[in-house]
Amino acid sequence: MSGLGTSAELDRAIVLALDDRPLDGAALRAVLGAAASGTEPAGPGHAGTGEAFNRLLAGARAVRRRNFKNDLHLCAIVNAKSGNCSEDCAFCAQSGHHKTASPRHGFLDPREIGLAAAAALARGASRFGIVASGLTQAGGDFEQLLEAVRLVRQAGLQADVSVGLLGPQRLARLMDAGLSGVHHNLETARSFFPQICTTHAYEDDVEAVRLALEAGLFVCSGGIFGLGESWDQRAELGQTLLDLGVESVPVNFLVPIPGTRLEHKSVLSRPEALGILALLRLMLPHANLRVCGGRGAVFGAGGGEGQRALLGSGASGLMIGDYLTIAGSPAEDDLALARELGFNPSTGPSPSPGKGR
Ligand code: SF4
Repeated sequence: MSGLGTSAELDRAIVLALDDRPLDGAALRAVLGAAASGTEPAGPGHAGTGEAFNRLLAGARAVRRRNFKNDLHLCAIVNAKSGNCSEDCAFCAQSGHHKTASPRHGFLDPREIGLAAAAALARGASRFGIVASGLTQAGGDFEQLLEAVRLVRQAGLQADVSVGLLGPQRLARLMDAGLSGVHHNLETARSFFPQICTTHAYEDDVEAVRLALEAGLFVCSGGIFGLGESWDQRAELGQTLLDLGVESVPVNFLVPIPGTRLEHKSVLSRPEALGILALLRLMLPHANLRVCGGRGAVFGAGGGEGQRALLGSGASGLMIGDYLTIAGSPAEDDLALARELGFNPSTGPSPSPGKGR
């Protein structure tokens, strides 16, 4: 990170975000400095950093309120196909390159997926993501996917898929079946990606996002944080998402899973995670930032103090229920806390889910 910036620059960054204007270099540096300061120990050598951090969080909260009011966007997923993925993403329990205890199964019966969608609707979700491991889906699995999309629509939810790379023809067939959105995470910054995945190119993921946007679909694309990326690389990912015009950004935090390449990493601290959300909120003032994987690991049990802090951050949505390979907290706890804090859960279009964890 190159310089921390001044408090005047931080204030200017917040004003820029409130005015829907992109951060310039000085403003971004000030935001990065304030975000990183939240992870520094308090003490004489760090006088004032707490103040900058708190001002950043307050600014992110103000931008979130301005653009999302009291809405809290909820969504849910089903892990339609799990494990044995050809890719070697360093964090992922589903990679066939890792030996993990996470479930491995072929494509679920589409009727099961339809039932899971109906249950998610009853819990307050408005979209439902069908997630399948793998860079692409083989022909038989793709036919199952088409049927699952139809059944999710029949259950009364918008259907999204997170199924790896999709070309124009497959996108068209899924849209004919009733598809609403595509999720495809970029995972991390372009400059850090080679340290995380070596089996496909970053540009493949960017192209998948571009094709879905060009098809007119709702597109959800974000990343996972705490992989060892720098603050500058977090901003780099934010800029790539801004340049692509992605409106929905899932934010995942690493949960180090035994058997993966990142099993020895630590879970991010709450201040660091809140700083990441604030950075993204100021860089992407209108993007629906939804916290997905790692929410419980970083912010604690549903209904608790950590989740209160999260709902007071720049985030504007949550994934409820279980994640792909990690159990979530009961959706009822999330809903009860959201209502207690004055949020209006599950109104309006919400983003689609994350993939690959
Ligand atoms: S993140 Fe997705 S592509 Fe990467 S290993 Fe996991 S399932 Fe495969």
